[in-house]
Amino acid sequence: MESFNYNLKPELLNKKVVILGGGESGVGAAILAKKQGANVFLSDKGSIKPEYQVILQDEDIRFESGIHTEEEVLSADWVIKSPGIPKKAEIIQKIKDNNILISSEIEFASRFTQAKIIAITGSNGKTTTTSLIYHILKNDGLSVGLGGNIGKSFAALVAESEYDFFVLEVSSFQLDDIQTFRPYISILLNLSPDHLDQYNYDYEQYALAKFNITQNQNQDNYFIFNKDDEMSIQILEKVKTEATKIPFSTKHILPEGAYYRDRRLFINFRNKFEISDDDLQISGIHNISNSLAASLAGKILDISNESIREALNTFQAVEHRMESVAQINDVVYINDSKATNVNAVYYALDTVQTPIVWIVGGVDKGNDYAELGELVKNKVCGIVCLGLDNDILLSYYQGFGIPMQETSSMHAAVFAARDMASPGNTVLLSPACASFDLFKNYEDRGTQFKSEVLKLKENT
Ligand code: ADP
Repeated sequence: MESFNYNLKPELLNKKVVILGGGESGVGAAILAKKQGANVFLSDKGSIKPEYQVILQDEDIRFESGIHTEEEVLSADWVIKSPGIPKKAEIIQKIKDNNILISSEIEFASRFTQAKIIAITGSNGKTTTTSLIYHILKNDGLSVGLGGNIGKSFAALVAESEYDFFVLEVSSFQLDDIQTFRPYISILLNLSPDHLDQYNYDYEQYALAKFNITQNQNQDNYFIFNKDDEMSIQILEKVKTEATKIPFSTKHILPEGAYYRDRRLFINFRNKFEISDDDLQISGIHNISNSLAASLAGKILDISNESIREALNTFQAVEHRMESVAQINDVVYINDSKATNVNAVYYALDTVQTPIVWIVGGVDKGNDYAELGELVKNKVCGIVCLGLDNDILLSYYQGFGIPMQETSSMHAAVFAARDMASPGNTVLLSPACASFDLFKNYEDRGTQFKSEVLKLKENT
């Protein structure tokens, strides 16, 4: 029952739209569907947070929490799936068996706006780059909304406000169920294995999901990609996109695109623009990549070189991403709590230019610590394991001859790190792991780190 014309804004009056999932994107989609005149029902098999329940009640939207009532869900004309619903959930199979159209929330929201979309995906750097592009547009005085995987959902933004541009962080899960979603500019920052449990442990499947970001783009659109990223180049040969492809690289000089040479960023698009890395507030080669990609987006949108320069010059690190917290007794403390995989930690260790006391650990998602072996040997002078179960870390790093200490609270971890650090060192929280064993989420972990460090500072 494909009841909607993909090329037209769908007519939702009296259509039944069922939203699966009652978090930020599900509630946003429900509000937008209601505004479009649909008969809306929201269903979540888990429990919906009280604050979202209040919003649904206020908006007079019917919902259920803790169950999927099949006759409700399967009588939908259109199902909107939140990114957190596993692809293999039983209810998804049933919806498919009943030939009901399933779309992701970003697909749904994109049907109801004429604004230009700049969409950013990748395994690491999405939030940083999305925030930087938002900053570039905002700094230039454009009317722009920021959302997707960060802040407000795209659907909520579309429902609540009118902008000329949306800058959206999108995950592979949001790109899984799109039909017409067509960004004006799409960016694929990089690929490294992540979330493979949702993709049959097949790295290529996950990579292909990320490439969906460009699948509907046409000749008027742009696809910015990372020339240094092997997997991106490999998949780019297999997939079709009509978009103009523009590369960036920190390793090679590119005739068209953006590259890094002799500590300067060069952006060659329409005209040339260059800036020294000293003029960036964010550090590390990974942030050079992010800045190259973001500057290209600015150039495509015809933002002046001066304006881009000013924005790059004033953009600060996003919280919990290589965020400087304090300097105590000549030791710098950095919060990189968002580094939940080995690839992100690689860049963190690479960026810091002093000996490092490294706070690492949590819920291991199947990390291959060998990728960090050389960097750890060369740069790390102390390891503080922070987790309920530190066995994998202990057994991997025991042979390195680096002092190690086990801890199971942030308070203890910060004290242990302080005791290990000598003047001139950096204490770096960059855990390579998820946070759920000891913390609510990575934000909670980072916030606790900052508060322990600031207490230490007060008492010094
Ligand atoms: P995402 O939204 O994709 O998780 P973030 O901007 O939140 O990305 O950064 C997550 C982690 O990855 C942080 O530890 C950050 O320092 C690191 N990081 C940021 N950009 C990159 C990049 N281009 N490549 C690798 N790691 C990165």
